[in-house]
Amino acid sequence: MQNNPHITLITPDAPVSADTHGGRTKCLQRLVRLELPVPRTVGLSFDAVHKIARGVMPDMALLLSPFDTGELLCVRPSSEDPDWGGPGAILNIGMNDARYLELSDRLGQEAAASLYARFVHSYSVLVARLDPDVFDEIGMEGQASLSAALAAYEDETDEIFPQDPAVQLGEVLRSMARAWEGTSARLLRQGKGAPADAGLGLVVQSMALGFGAGECGSGVLQLVDGQTGLMQLTGRYLSQSQGRDALDGGVEALFLERDPRGPSLEDLAPDAFEALIGHATLMRAKLREEMQVEFVIEDGRVHLLDGVRVARTPRAAVRIAVRLAEDGIITRQEALMRVPPSALNELLHKQVDRTRPRDLVGRGVAASPGAATGRIVFSAAEAQASAARGEACVLVRRETSPEDVRGMHAANAVLTERGGMTSHAAVIGRGIGLPCVVGATEMRFQMRKQMLTTRDGRVFKAGDVITVDGTHGEVLAGEVAMLEATLDDAFQTLLGWADAERDIGIRANADTPADAKAAKMFLAQGIGLCRTEHMFFDDDRLTVMREMIFADNSEDRRAALERLLPVQRADFTELFCTMAGLPVCIRLLDPPLHEFLPSDHAGHRALAEALNLPLSNVTRRVEAMEEYNPMLGMRGVRLGITVPEIYDMQARAIFEAAILAGEAGAPIVPEIMIPLVSAKREVELVKMRIDMVAAAVRSETNASFDYKLGVMVETPRAALRAHDIAETASFLSFGTNDLTQMTYGLSRDDAGRFMSAYVNQGVFPEDPFHTLDVDGVGELLILGAKRGRKTRPDLVLSMCGEHGGNPESIAFCRAAGFDYVSCSPFRVPVARLAAAQLAIIDKLE
Ligand code: PEP
Ligand code: MG
Repeated sequence: MQNNPHITLITPDAPVSADTHGGRTKCLQRLVRLELPVPRTVGLSFDAVHKIARGVMPDMALLLSPFDTGELLCVRPSSEDPDWGGPGAILNIGMNDARYLELSDRLGQEAAASLYARFVHSYSVLVARLDPDVFDEIGMEGQASLSAALAAYEDETDEIFPQDPAVQLGEVLRSMARAWEGTSARLLRQGKGAPADAGLGLVVQSMALGFGAGECGSGVLQLVDGQTGLMQLTGRYLSQSQGRDALDGGVEALFLERDPRGPSLEDLAPDAFEALIGHATLMRAKLREEMQVEFVIEDGRVHLLDGVRVARTPRAAVRIAVRLAEDGIITRQEALMRVPPSALNELLHKQVDRTRPRDLVGRGVAASPGAATGRIVFSAAEAQASAARGEACVLVRRETSPEDVRGMHAANAVLTERGGMTSHAAVIGRGIGLPCVVGATEMRFQMRKQMLTTRDGRVFKAGDVITVDGTHGEVLAGEVAMLEATLDDAFQTLLGWADAERDIGIRANADTPADAKAAKMFLAQGIGLCRTEHMFFDDDRLTVMREMIFADNSEDRRAALERLLPVQRADFTELFCTMAGLPVCIRLLDPPLHEFLPSDHAGHRALAEALNLPLSNVTRRVEAMEEYNPMLGMRGVRLGITVPEIYDMQARAIFEAAILAGEAGAPIVPEIMIPLVSAKREVELVKMRIDMVAAAVRSETNASFDYKLGVMVETPRAALRAHDIAETASFLSFGTNDLTQMTYGLSRDDAGRFMSAYVNQGVFPEDPFHTLDVDGVGELLILGAKRGRKTRPDLVLSMCGEHGGNPESIAFCRAAGFDYVSCSPFRVPVARLAAAQLAIIDKLE
């Protein structure tokens, strides 16, 4: 039998593999190789089980040949990946009237009756497919239960309960094989990622009963806590039990280790306890994984029925991987490969404990991970007032704009009706680590009435408490149980190992000193994008900014900019000092000036007052500046060309800040980046002026400094003309948010409305604002990179759009020879790990 690949006694060298017999069979072989006390087991291959489902039964005599006559058996599923599930195990096969009498003598009548009753029950429901209700009133223990179960079977089937063990086993195999091939089971496992033709293996194992004289029972044991990942003996044990009895929430299982609170396995069967710990330790070392041991004790002797990889939370996964590497069981590279990068998201933020009850009231796009609870507020000002009172709040907006940024900083979470992965709320949320759900279109947002109405008509008003789960895109009523964020030693250790492996740089997008501190904390290698517009939204600056926008002539504009210069200089100095010598790339002003102006009547009036102008004048000018399509209008470098004084002021602030930072011990070569370029001449014109500013600052201060000028590639034309543009740029940074918007002709702020329909119908495989479109936008990236490097081989290439933090985009950028990616600070750890994994995979190949 040993060499029959389809019905195989599991010995150390039996021809079995996870691909042909399933993970459980393979694991049992590993345990057999370690000479652990595994009951005799026969593995049936995927092929054999497939045939059984089609009615072609295996040679039952051959299958039963390794087992003693009269031995009870169990059958368990063995799918390729344990997560794909499978039919439940069936125990005590072979139980019949004769065996009952025999076991009554050996174990006592009650125990024998229980084993028989259990088998009749599971056979009736799972194999004969009798209605489970029939057994509702019938227990599992003792003779009365047995008689009732047998009578129920006979009543329902008009047949005597099958007595031939070979018949019983054949029927069990058939029912399990067919259950696997059923439509609902197939859909269920496909939902977990299994292929349509995923196979099922089965193991037929000699039963260790768990009942009888001396200490008998069953349980599970593991050396580590699956929630925390800390080394801690965990598990359950129940005397006189089998199968999953000990795991049944209703029973009082024993402690494993000696415990003052009650009896323990260690007290009852110290030798068995010690043997189990030894077995579990050996499994950890040799299977190179934290395993849960499923065991049975018979009269003090231990049998190992199975070993299963310990289920773990993301935070436990990190601790376990690091600990296994520190103990020399796996390499550091293996530890890095064992943690999915996205799992780190759950460590960086508080999370909803999804094992606890929660009241789901709406869904949207999971735009920024983490979860927070607070009272609903409908404006940024209320969010700030709420923060001032020390009260947690959730900022609810139709969508957010730069004016809301301060409110977002004050809020604990943000919920918007509109938007997608690159909408304003999403980008800012991720940047500052604020949980955020956007595009919650199935809820009704009534901003004037300050009401939020759910699909089923529930109303939430200002002040009501909700929870925003930005990891899963859910809105929950009230408070819910949360898991704390943990940046523990294991996390830091793992990322330290990641940095030693990776070969692409990771910078952070950071606009404020707080962002820069987060970037530093997460060990970003610099700032890849500082969006300067966010610096102008503080009340005191905004008024001066508006004055500048309203200036009638260059002289007045300069006067207003003179007042902005010191604040910009202070911003940049702080940024440079925080980054302490790491590179910082500053983008010159990008948004249309119109975004800095008030949009409602009250705002116009306040502005008229501040600028001492008639209201009608203000309203007229605000209206005159409105654009039909502002994202394609007067913004980015177009501002730099037409209102050059703004960029002059910013360049001066950057240079003066660089000098100050150098004096403070943080020398820097600032990188200045021009947004929304589409033509070489734009770059030349801006460069000319910036060079002039640099020369002026040098001669005024007598200080020497250097700087780099680069271009943000956000328009398809900039990518196509990269060879021209590279003549005047020392770096190109691909802004894939705008580049995606312009390549598709798809509004990044409005696409949320139809994106799910597009993805559901397979028009787009994914939201291209979330997952880089490698076919279209990607081609522009490769083309731009190649053309740019042809002109200037040492051209520094990077990606700074929101895609920068995604593992798939990092793989793309690495392959295209980019120097670094830049992403929101809170995504830096994920990017560091993903980059390390890519480098390791390359090294292994
Ligand atoms: C981009 O367009 O990819 C980008 C990074 O700039 P922003 O998101 O500020 O437009
Ligand atoms: Mg952009």
